[in-house]
Amino acid sequence: MKVLKFGGTSVANAENIVKVGHIIKEESLKNQIVVVVSALHGVTDQLIQAAESASQNDADYLNIIKGLEEKHLKLVKELMPVLEQSPWLSFVKKQFNTIEDLCNGIYALGEFTGRIKDKITSYGEFLSSNIIAARLQSEGLDVTWMNAAGCIITNSNFTYAKVDFDATEQNLKDFFHTHQHQVVIAPGFVARDGKGNPTTLGRGGSDYTASIIASAADAEELQIWTDVSGMMTADPRLVSTAKTIFRISYAEAMELSHFGAKVLYPPTLQPVMAKNISLRIKNTFDPEAAGTLIGHHLEKTDDEKQEFAVGISNMSRIALLTLEGSGMIGIPGISAKLFHCLSNENINVILITQSSSEHSITVAISEQDADNSQHAIHNSFKDDLQLKRVEPLMIETGLAIVALVGENMKSRSGVSAKMFGCLGNNGINIRAIAQGSSEKNISIVIAEADVKKALNVMHEEFFESVIKQVHLYLCGTGNVGKKLIRQMYAQNEYLKENLLMNLRIAGVCNSRKMLFSEKGISEHELSLMDESGQEASAGKFAAEIISRNLRNSVFVDVTASSEVPEIYEELLKKSVNIIACNKIAASSSLEHYRHLKLTARNHSCKFFFETNVGAGLPVIGTINDLMRSGDQVLSIQAVLSGTLNFVFNHYDGTRTFSEIVAQAQAEGYTEPDPRLDLAGTDVARKILILTREAGYALEFDDIENESFLPEECMHGNVEDFYSALSKYEDHFKMLLDNAKNNGKILKYVAEFSNGKAKVGLQHIAPESDLFHLYGKDNIVIFKTLRYSDQPLVVKGAGAGADVTASGVFADVVRSV
Ligand code: ADP
Ligand code: ASP
Ligand code: MG
Repeated sequence: MKVLKFGGTSVANAENIVKVGHIIKEESLKNQIVVVVSALHGVTDQLIQAAESASQNDADYLNIIKGLEEKHLKLVKELMPVLEQSPWLSFVKKQFNTIEDLCNGIYALGEFTGRIKDKITSYGEFLSSNIIAARLQSEGLDVTWMNAAGCIITNSNFTYAKVDFDATEQNLKDFFHTHQHQVVIAPGFVARDGKGNPTTLGRGGSDYTASIIASAADAEELQIWTDVSGMMTADPRLVSTAKTIFRISYAEAMELSHFGAKVLYPPTLQPVMAKNISLRIKNTFDPEAAGTLIGHHLEKTDDEKQEFAVGISNMSRIALLTLEGSGMIGIPGISAKLFHCLSNENINVILITQSSSEHSITVAISEQDADNSQHAIHNSFKDDLQLKRVEPLMIETGLAIVALVGENMKSRSGVSAKMFGCLGNNGINIRAIAQGSSEKNISIVIAEADVKKALNVMHEEFFESVIKQVHLYLCGTGNVGKKLIRQMYAQNEYLKENLLMNLRIAGVCNSRKMLFSEKGISEHELSLMDESGQEASAGKFAAEIISRNLRNSVFVDVTASSEVPEIYEELLKKSVNIIACNKIAASSSLEHYRHLKLTARNHSCKFFFETNVGAGLPVIGTINDLMRSGDQVLSIQAVLSGTLNFVFNHYDGTRTFSEIVAQAQAEGYTEPDPRLDLAGTDVARKILILTREAGYALEFDDIENESFLPEECMHGNVEDFYSALSKYEDHFKMLLDNAKNNGKILKYVAEFSNGKAKVGLQHIAPESDLFHLYGKDNIVIFKTLRYSDQPLVVKGAGAGADVTASGVFADVVRSV
């Protein structure tokens, strides 16, 4: 004999029940079968809602009941031939009359006890099982309906009753002795106590009914038919990449379901496990899929033996209770008292951790039991509280449990390091940890808001070592932003293949609009951003990134805005990596620069800004490597401004200085106000950043800036600036001639030595390394302890959207 259980979704409507019928017919050709069914999807919840409304004096309960009645009448009409409908329509109406009478009573009394709750909810399964049995009978199958509620005997712990296995097994054996039909249909979830009152086995309890029946009938196999293709490596609603676990031991399945894998109600395994009956989880909507086989001694393949874990499960709405006090140390019995007290209140303890000093004990329970437990513990520990042996109980809510499960864990080292490492890198704070002594699971308590992220991060780490999902948020869609996006699309396949990294552009923002997509923004969507995006601001962009809380997030700032760096800190605190092309943060006050770096370190994320100096040239990375290997930067000499290079490379006296500056501006080499470049502010910021990275504590004002611009040029707007430039042509010509007359050229140079930095115009001789610089060339010459005679030189194009975008891209790849 086989026992098949169909859940709420499988019997949600006529269409699904027809599918269930096909499965039943096929199985019944091979075996005698017992079919256990749940109530129609959502019916149990709605029956409870009706009764609750009635108890709160809300007459809406009548509408809920009406809606449920119509749903069942419709089902009868759709499933039964017209001539056979009448008794079943009357049957449904009769049940709903009784349900309405019960709710009227609740409405009048304003009282809704567990006893009444069980009485009302049991109608869900009573109705579904009878209608399905009628349908199969009308199709000619040899079917009988079994009153499971009469056979399964429990205590009177309503809503979560405990089974009396001896009495139940006897009743079920008697039933099967006298009923030899090919198909037996039974309602799940329902039972009765010794006095005949209806009881239920806990939410999701139909699985348990099926297991109790399978055990009593010594069935060959128990099949749980549901809406997913088996037990999966994580809840597929939260982890889209979850995979079916094809084979799993009872113990592992038990751990997964205990910690929240809803696909199997936790007590279900025990009765079948005791008799070594294998359990299969199958998908009603994809019957051909293999599903999951749960059993003893399943031979693991070599690959399976290599796996760290079999799955991850999660449980929401958890509260943590912590009892602590000096009186707990070394005094036996305090934990016993705590657990006794919780058990007296029928409160299920999900997880326990105790500090090794025995100073405190923490237990996780369901949030709905928090108030009850507080009262109970307060009462039991009255004396201890008075004598200050324990502190008042601490309760935290809004939490969840995530558990990594697998029997292989005990023989593999480094599982917890791997788990905590990936969670830490994503800024997930762990409130409590427990590892069963059997080492079949490591469970943690975290904030509810972090559950989806934690599951995905862990899933990636343990089950998809293949490809890491990176979520990129880009701020700025100017030249560099556009090039960066193009490079990323073009390089995605390479990254997947060679670095096992899938880069998704999860959000884009400019000064007007912002756009998000967890799956990655396509080029087409991006082109429509101006029309389809939401109103943007740096603050709104940050808020959205934080609320999305995606794993492996990277924020890229390719703006020159002073507002965007203001969001870096809050993002770093959420472990979002920051890649800045924008120089403002790294050249702000020393305190702020250090604070951002420290924040990144404290939250296990990166704050990279290689493109702040020399665009894509490896300048900052080189300093970092030198420092890490114990070298020390003694001096720096550099030409770092594309604008000033352009101007002094082109100014040869044949055209005026002002004309050359105007040309540089027209060709996109300058800031909108060219003075920012010409006055050396930009170069000063760059040398400041280099000295800081080299470990020197400099402020912007410490940089000596010998401006070559006459004072008058600094006043007024850009137009005034150009007319001032024209007036001072003689001044610029003289600067040029002085250099030329000595056989030298003009270069704007940044220098650092003896702890001091300065920027300014210099005469450069042909034999100098700084002489032969063309186009957009930048050069940085480092003298260090190790590179003392022959300096280390980094030279190449130090400006331009393409090279800057590649520098940013490289930072992104390095950061995750
Ligand atoms: P039924 O109504 O058939 O009893 P349930 O809703 O109780 O179905 O259980 C099936 C659901 O369990 C799935 O739809 C899935 O969302 C959820 N679930 C949670 N964790 C897991 C997991 N590890 N594997 C499979 N399903 C899971
Ligand atoms: N109908 C019950 C519930 O929704 C039992 C079950 O479906 O397993 O909890
Ligand atoms: Mg279920």
